[in-house]
Amino acid sequence: MNRTMLVLSALGILSAGTVGGVLPTTAYAATSSQSTTAVKYPGHLIEMGSRGTYVKEVQQQLNKLGYSCGTADGIFGSHTLSAVKAFQKAHHLTVDGIVGPQTWNALFGSTGASTTPNTIVNPYQTYTYNKMVQDIQSLTRKYPDLVHSEIVGRTVYGRDIYAVSIGKGKPTAFINGAHHAREWITTILNMYMIDQYAQAYEKGQSIGGYNVRNVLNNATIWFIPMVNPDGVTLEQSGLSAFPRSSWANLKRWNGGSSNFKRWKANAQGIDPNLQYDGGWADIRNNIVNHPWYEDYKGPAPYYINEVKAVLKLINQINPQDEVAYHSSGDVIYWGYKLTRTQESTDKWYATKVRSLTGYFIEPIGASDGGGLTDWWTHNIGRPGLTVEVGTYEGDQPVPVSQFSTIWSQNKAVGLFMAQQAINLYKQHPNSVVHVNY
Ligand SMILES: [Zn+2]
Repeated sequence: MNRTMLVLSALGILSAGTVGGVLPTTAYAATSSQSTTAVKYPGHLIEMGSRGTYVKEVQQQLNKLGYSCGTADGIFGSHTLSAVKAFQKAHHLTVDGIVGPQTWNALFGSTGASTTPNTIVNPYQTYTYNKMVQDIQSLTRKYPDLVHSEIVGRTVYGRDIYAVSIGKGKPTAFINGAHHAREWITTILNMYMIDQYAQAYEKGQSIGGYNVRNVLNNATIWFIPMVNPDGVTLEQSGLSAFPRSSWANLKRWNGGSSNFKRWKANAQGIDPNLQYDGGWADIRNNIVNHPWYEDYKGPAPYYINEVKAVLKLINQINPQDEVAYHSSGDVIYWGYKLTRTQESTDKWYATKVRSLTGYFIEPIGASDGGGLTDWWTHNIGRPGLTVEVGTYEGDQPVPVSQFSTIWSQNKAVGLFMAQQAINLYKQHPNSVVHVNY
C-alpha cells in the first residue's frame, strides 16, 4: 500500500464492498495545494468510535508526543479520548476530544501560514445528499458574507432541494447538477466549485485567469448542486433509503433489478431533464410511456417538484446565462432550435467553454429537447450549455477517481459564466425572466 492507497483506504474508498469498482488515482489530500500540513487532514472528524488508518496515525502521533493512547490499534476508544483531551488542553485548543482540522494540524505540525485546511468539500467519496447538506451548512457558516443557501423545493419523499449562491453582484449565472441520478459527480463539481471560489475570494487569488474577488464582487453564481436528491439517493443507497411501500414500483421501473446504479430518473420514474417545455410535446414518447429508470418524460411538462424548484429559482434570480452539468462523455450540447441571432452568441459560449475544458462541441441542436438548457436557450433566448463531464461511462456513474481531471477542466467555467453575466447585464439591465409553470 502506498500513501495514496492509505488515504483512500481511510476514506473508505478502497474498502471491500465499495460499489462501482471505484479506484481513485488521486488522493483527496493531494488536491489541497494550499495546505502545507506534513500529514494532510482527512477531511472528516476523528472521534470516539472512529476506526481506521487515520485513527491509528493519530494514536501513533499522540504516543510519540507523550500522550499515551496505549496500543495504536486504529480504534478510537476511551484511552485515545483522554489522550486527545490532554493534548488539546496543553495546546490551548477546544477540549472536546474530537480531532478536527485544528487539532489535526497541531498534532502533525502545519508548516505553512494557514493553520487550518481550507477545503470543506471532499470530492473523493460517494457524495450523498446528506453530505451535501452538511457541506452547504459548513460553507454558509464559514463564509457568511459570501455564500448563502435556501430551500427552493421538496421532493415527494421529503428531501429539500437546496440552492446555493456565491457572490455579491446583481448579474447572475446559474449552474446546476444531478438532474440525472447517476450523474452525482456533477453535484461534487458544483459544491467543489463553490468551496474553491470562496477560498480564492478570501485570499484574493485568481482561478483560470479570473480574479475571483473582482468577478464575485460584481456578479453572483447560483447553484442547484443536486436537482434530483431522491434519484441520487436511490442510485447510491438502493431501496433501503425509501419506504417499503415504494419498493415494488421502484424495482419494477428498474426492470426488476435491485441494482440501481444506472438509475437516471427521479423516484417517480420521471426523467427530470425531459420535463421542460422546450420541445416537450415532440419528445419520443413511443420509447417509454410509463415510469422507468430513464427516458420517461412524464404526463405533462413541469410535472415534478424538482423541475418546479428549478423554475422557482430562475424566477427569483433572473439569470443571464446557464450551465447544466451532466455526465458523461466530455462533450458540450448547445443550440436546441435556436434562431440565427441566438446562434452566434451561443456558439461563442460553446467555443469558449471548449477552450477551457477541451471538450468536444456537439453539432448545433443535437439534443432531443425537454432539457433545461433546451428550454432555456430556445424559449427564454438566453445563453446556455449542457456540459457532460467525465470520460464516457455508458449507463454507469463516473468514478470519483476522475474528479481531479474534471475539476482542472471545469474550474474556470463558473467564473467565465459570471463574467459573461456581468457583460450581458450591462447590455440589458431591465430584462427579466418570468416563467409560468
Ligand atoms: Zn444527464
